[in-house]
Amino acid sequence: MNLLGLHHITAIASDPRQNLDFYTRVLGLRFIKKSVNQDDPGTYHLYYGDYAGSPGTVLTFFPWMGLRRGRPGHGQAYATAFSIPAGALDFWQERLARLQVPTAPVETRFGDSVLTVFDPDGLRLELVATAEADPRPPAPSTDVPAAHAIRGFHSSTLALNDAAPTAAVLTSTMGYHQVAQDGYRTRYTVATGGPGTYVDLLTDPALPRGLNGAGTIHHVAFRAPDDPAHVTAHREVASAGLGVSPVIDRAYFKSLYYREPGGVLFEIATDQPGFAIDEPVESLGTKLGLPPRLEPFRAEIEAALPKLTTP
Ligand code: ZN
Repeated sequence: MNLLGLHHITAIASDPRQNLDFYTRVLGLRFIKKSVNQDDPGTYHLYYGDYAGSPGTVLTFFPWMGLRRGRPGHGQAYATAFSIPAGALDFWQERLARLQVPTAPVETRFGDSVLTVFDPDGLRLELVATAEADPRPPAPSTDVPAAHAIRGFHSSTLALNDAAPTAAVLTSTMGYHQVAQDGYRTRYTVATGGPGTYVDLLTDPALPRGLNGAGTIHHVAFRAPDDPAHVTAHREVASAGLGVSPVIDRAYFKSLYYREPGGVLFEIATDQPGFAIDEPVESLGTKLGLPPRLEPFRAEIEAALPKLTTP
């Protein structure tokens, strides 16, 4: 299987307005797509990322107003880490304290400083001030200077009771290999490696069993470079006995889904065609994006969605 790293990560939120404000104004990501949950079109699907919504930068949310909080823990993608420049940690600590955003004490992980940050629903985010090269352009923002800005994902940490079956899927089926190990944490990478590729498996026995709800991750998507690689991935996931979905055309990418043995929902998504298929790159996030099968119902869908004025 030919995978390039993380594609997007999708989480569950409550209030869409609060979610939009936090990710654009506090974290300085670009709002790149306003769409709907394709399985529940009365709910938004909000996407944040770099300027173009490049694969490896995109965090997305299903916000259900009033939804109760979940509990991060085993059987879930426990933490979502973003890459920031090595010298940016002080900036972020000062900024998040001033904005009264909850954080946890900085820890050192595989030589990098990691600042844990909680979004308004309690979703566990991490800013990894990494000494590794990360040539990706900063997310454009009027609130966060480019020198300190988020570059995209660094890693996804999966919390597991038993890492072995998940590690076997990563290494035998998905082409990942182990690069580091420390205590309960083992790191895997794929392709060229580096920020945006890492998956950490965490077997901390102190963590509870995870419960879905606001502030938890729904699924983690990996990058297939093109359609032929996606077809190959589908065949290989199926032959590994993982119970794969059909290939689904999500308009912005093609998808397939399977649940890895530790309980986390995985997706493999194509890099193409991307988010500029229904609005120009310069104005991403301004128009409600709908897949072709929902386009005939645009008026009803827009009327049913909560009002959300976008930046
Ligand atoms: Zn997805």
